[in-house]
Amino acid sequence: MKLSFQDKKVLVRVDFNVPLNASNQITDDTRIRGALPTIKYILDHGGAVILMSHLGRPLKKLLPDGSLDVKKHTLAHIVPHLSELLGRPVQFSADTVGEEAVAKSRALQPGQVLLLENTRFSKAEEAGDEDFAKKLAGLGDLYVNDAFGTAHRAHASTTTVANYFADGKKDFGFLMENEITNANKVLHDPARPLCAIVGGAKVSDKILLLERLIDFVDTLIIGGGMAYTFIKAKGGNVGNSLVEEDKTDLALQLIQKAKDKGVSLLLPEDSKVASAFAADAETKVGDSTDIPAGWMGLDIGPKAIVAFRNAISQAQSILWNGPMGVFEMEPFATGTKAIAEAVAMATEKGAFSLVGGGDSVAAVTQMGLSDKVSFVSTGGGAMLEYLEGKELPGIKAIK
Ligand code: AMP
Repeated sequence: MKLSFQDKKVLVRVDFNVPLNASNQITDDTRIRGALPTIKYILDHGGAVILMSHLGRPLKKLLPDGSLDVKKHTLAHIVPHLSELLGRPVQFSADTVGEEAVAKSRALQPGQVLLLENTRFSKAEEAGDEDFAKKLAGLGDLYVNDAFGTAHRAHASTTTVANYFADGKKDFGFLMENEITNANKVLHDPARPLCAIVGGAKVSDKILLLERLIDFVDTLIIGGGMAYTFIKAKGGNVGNSLVEEDKTDLALQLIQKAKDKGVSLLLPEDSKVASAFAADAETKVGDSTDIPAGWMGLDIGPKAIVAFRNAISQAQSILWNGPMGVFEMEPFATGTKAIAEAVAMATEKGAFSLVGGGDSVAAVTQMGLSDKVSFVSTGGGAMLEYLEGKELPGIKAIK
């Protein structure tokens, strides 16, 4: 952050969209902790902080009488924990841009923190409404966006609001800067060889990503459910494995494109197949191109693990998006675990590794390997779109 915060009121868009239990207690505060460096930096440099965030989808979860379920979706739930983490009281405004928000932000002194009510209580937020954004902008002297997870949405508090701050009065927060810098390490002039590992359920979710990756990776590993659409397209028998029939032509095109570009494309040679989509199903290992009718590939097999591991160990840059199997079920987590370990090992040997934009983040976290890879993105859909090469509205509005 390059702005001078002394005696300024800084409007900061954070992502406090944390999971709450039935008693509205925070069950995972990762996102709140993620925003602390930016908040503390501004406070330590003489600024006052006005925080705005969404929490849940309140307009999609109205009460039976059609009114907002304020009790469930109020950001007031965050105040006690945030005050504790910051070691100072956090004030709360029960409206987002109304009289209370205006009065409390006007009275705010350097070193003080004000949290505004849920931006998504108004439909103006998701509509990217100008008037709402202008009112938000009126509360602060400077704007900082630290909510990378919503940077792909052109909402009022993530995008439109930035248009009301001139250059030199707006910036990215540390968390957002970090996400962008790390993604750019694989997207722009990466250390080579660059190996991308793409998995997850469906080809259709990852078409843009695959098309883009083929343009610049050295090795492309395809695992997970989506691999079977490729294997079927090449003439293999995949039994009852997940296949998107309408994507087999696309799969063949991608295979051809990889050939033309000299990209080494790896599919799982063997699979762990199951008699049903269930943790207690009967299982066996077999060739991925010869899966019997009634059986389905739910994980990559031991030969695939060796081949994938070998490719990963040679990489200097690694991008991983999507699990290698149905890792949520223990019997089908082996492949994902082995790949996570291979990525961790390559990282230890000096490769740069980024895990992001899909369930592989959950997998790496579940396996306790988050701090053994270079960077784990918190961005979800936003990271996927960034990797696909899209210009995210929340980033563009600040640049
Ligand atoms: P994504 O969000 O795109 O990373 O996809 C993750 C989902 O893909 C997880 O819920 C996995 O269970 C699922 N998945 C991975 N491999 C397979 C497979 N072989 N068959 C069906 N689903 C799979």
